[in-house]
Amino acid sequence: MRPPLVVGNWKMHGGLAEARALAQSVRDGLKRPRGVEVVVCPPFTALAAVAEVLGGSVVGLGAQNCHWEPHGAFTGEISPTMLAELGCRLVLLGHSERRHIFRETDDEINKKVAAVLRHGLQPLLCVGETAEERRQGLTFTVVEGQLRAGWAGLSLEDMGRCLLAYEPVWAIGTGVNATPAQAAEVHGYLRGLASELGSKDLAQTVRILYGGSVKADNAAEVTQEPDVDGVLVGGASLQAPSFIAIAKKSAAKGGAPKRRLLLCDPESTSCAIGRTAVPPGAIESNRLGISAVSHSTTGARSGYLPALPLRQQRSRYVSRGRAGVRVDSRGRRG
Ligand code: PEP
Repeated sequence: MRPPLVVGNWKMHGGLAEARALAQSVRDGLKRPRGVEVVVCPPFTALAAVAEVLGGSVVGLGAQNCHWEPHGAFTGEISPTMLAELGCRLVLLGHSERRHIFRETDDEINKKVAAVLRHGLQPLLCVGETAEERRQGLTFTVVEGQLRAGWAGLSLEDMGRCLLAYEPVWAIGTGVNATPAQAAEVHGYLRGLASELGSKDLAQTVRILYGGSVKADNAAEVTQEPDVDGVLVGGASLQAPSFIAIAKKSAAKGGAPKRRLLLCDPESTSCAIGRTAVPPGAIESNRLGISAVSHSTTGARSGYLPALPLRQQRSRYVSRGRAGVRVDSRGRRG
């Protein structure tokens, strides 16, 4: 099970009065959220005040960054122990603004991830490509490098305690969000990589959020993708009504589990889900339902097929390379 998670990143906005008021409104608007977990990440200066407001509520507290040392001569820095003391449960790490404006390196981010885990907090590791990198076809290369580096040296157990967010840099604060298919493709790729770096079980359980211009009117669309386990929200988390609406729209709906389109090509010899090689036509099931599979490749590593809701599976047919054939969830040709 991967319960949807919605995280609000307040960035460097709001003094104490605004932070308290926003936290109160979010708390009151989400008294008993069903099927979704919610966390807000105020600026450091408001953490204690917001912790007080949220005390006893279901809305969790997170921080936007931290240093990797527990204490010491690091002027201007905040340690994971300090954040734990304030009641934080997660810490955003590797946010694109930290990477690009403050030039944080993969190595520093990796030290922060390890430190946060050591102090019993959950890292929410953000990865994402710039517009130029996407134009050059480097999206998978970039996010793969960031995830490999961010998780370097972690035990399987620690990887399992991490949260991930795919945040394309070109979508952050621009009003241009990734399409559900673009998000699904990268999330699937990251899940495949999690399988390679950790285990198949890790790939099925790690929560991967999407972030980048999520608003109340596009949250439902992106979170219905099977591999999107919630959203990381910047601008729209600063207004309680929009953040509450996003949380509600991201909640898991009861009923049928989300499923992925199942495709295979009986002639292909090299197939994959993300980076995980599977035999042609193989079926992989995950905890959300049936997932799958393979399509033709001509030697190159196969891409990931975006998930489609069950409803659309009957009407859409997707293939790349040689013609694929539709199969049902038991692998029968349809
Ligand atoms: C973010 O800062 O993580 C973010 C996704 O911002 P926005 O929602 O404003 O694009």
